Amino acid sequence: MRPLNVMIVGGGIGGMTLSLCLAQQGHQVSIFERAVMDSDAGAGVQLSPNGARVLHSLGLASALEGCAFLPQGGQFRHFRSGRLIAQTALGAQVAERYGAPYYHIHRGDLHHLLLQAVKLSPNIVRHAGVSVDNFEQHGRGVEIKFSQGVQRGDLLVGADGIHSTIRDLLWGAQPPHFTGQVAWRTLVPAARLPKNRIRPMASVWWGPGKHFVHYYVRRGELVNCVCVVEKSNWQVESWSSKGDYAELKKDFAGWHDDVQHLIDQADHQSLYKWALYDRAPMSKWGKGRVTLLGDACHPTLPFMAQGAAMAIEDAAVLTACVKSAAGVAEALQRYEKLRRPRTAYVQRGSRRHARVFHLSGVGAWMRNLVAAKAGERTASRLFAYDARAATKF
Ligand SMILES: Cc1cc2nc3c(=O)[nH]c(=O)nc-3n(C[C@H](O)[C@H](O)[C@H](O)COP(=O)(O)OP(=O)(O)OC[C@H]3O[C@@H](n4cnc5c(N)ncnc54)[C@H](O)[C@@H]3O)c2cc1C
Repeated sequence: MRPLNVMIVGGGIGGMTLSLCLAQQGHQVSIFERAVMDSDAGAGVQLSPNGARVLHSLGLASALEGCAFLPQGGQFRHFRSGRLIAQTALGAQVAERYGAPYYHIHRGDLHHLLLQAVKLSPNIVRHAGVSVDNFEQHGRGVEIKFSQGVQRGDLLVGADGIHSTIRDLLWGAQPPHFTGQVAWRTLVPAARLPKNRIRPMASVWWGPGKHFVHYYVRRGELVNCVCVVEKSNWQVESWSSKGDYAELKKDFAGWHDDVQHLIDQADHQSLYKWALYDRAPMSKWGKGRVTLLGDACHPTLPFMAQGAAMAIEDAAVLTACVKSAAGVAEALQRYEKLRRPRTAYVQRGSRRHARVFHLSGVGAWMRNLVAAKAGERTASRLFAYDARAATKF
């Protein structure tokens, strides 16, 4: 296809990756982002080889290595005794098997390195502090309306996250369903913890009705903690709502000493609380010259750690479809057809993990027996996917 003028609403992880993939193919891209572009918002993100592979192909391997952490493995442990239930290898073994590493990274660092690459591209124009409110499409193009004016292009992608305006404009508002789970999020400076106490692993502690995840980010300087509890008295879905230390401490009373150390050393002013909402997979994403990407079309509970990787995969597949199709509408249909089954698998799998992680009694005993094998099967299905080559059905 001839070089296109592409408009992307949302300069998050998915929107920025898409802009880089398209620019690499010679397309002209405009990104419209509501917030300031260079934001340190968020905490840890897991980036498995299926996502890392795409970023490497954009020339970002050394930038990732400079700020991420390479975990040696993943471990599941008993919440009180600390007994090892199952483990999987990550580190060199995964990098060798899948051709790209598994990274743990601060979302702010990932966002920053993408932004640096975007700034270097002559094909990408950034509009920061701009909220897109509406669009109209006709036979030959699409026009967006934002606070400061209008802009026309060949193609519009809503990469505007979990509360997507573009999705609502396309399909009407679709109210999500509260899962009854709340996630605590905090970052703990590693220097505050006893040396070698916290393993260089993605560690998941399973307990009845709760689980606690922690892993290093920022070259090992910070430990990212995500602590999920079943409770119904908090329903705010936000990355920036603060929580209370005493409540977190009470939620995990009686848990293993490692978990207590992490909670005790967390900065009390930087505890965030995020109500988890579930959304069913969508039966359709786009119409005509407009489509969606990332959390805008497949927001995912965090229990498979695939939110960022799925948005990054979308970006590579959409770009490959634009390259191979004869027209815009055909490219978008092909993209959607390729991406909906895989992202729905992750949405449904994450929902299942939400139940399985919190089992007790016989259910937990049976889960523990099969956890290692099941984990390996899922990892292989997720990690082996090469988004850059996925243009055929
Ligand atoms: C502030 C923030 C913090 C986060 N922290 C974490 C974290 O700690 N751990 C984790 O696993 N995931 C985190 N996430 C989510 C994670 O980034 C996504 O799940 C994943 O990377 C998919 O990315 P995405 O590009 O689809 O959406 P996002 O990364 O959420 O990006 C969407 C972008 O669209 C912008 N936007 C929304 N509406 C409009 C509009 N109308 N006009 C213009 N721009 C608009 C938003 O400001 C945002 O920058 C965070 C997201 C945000 C926005």
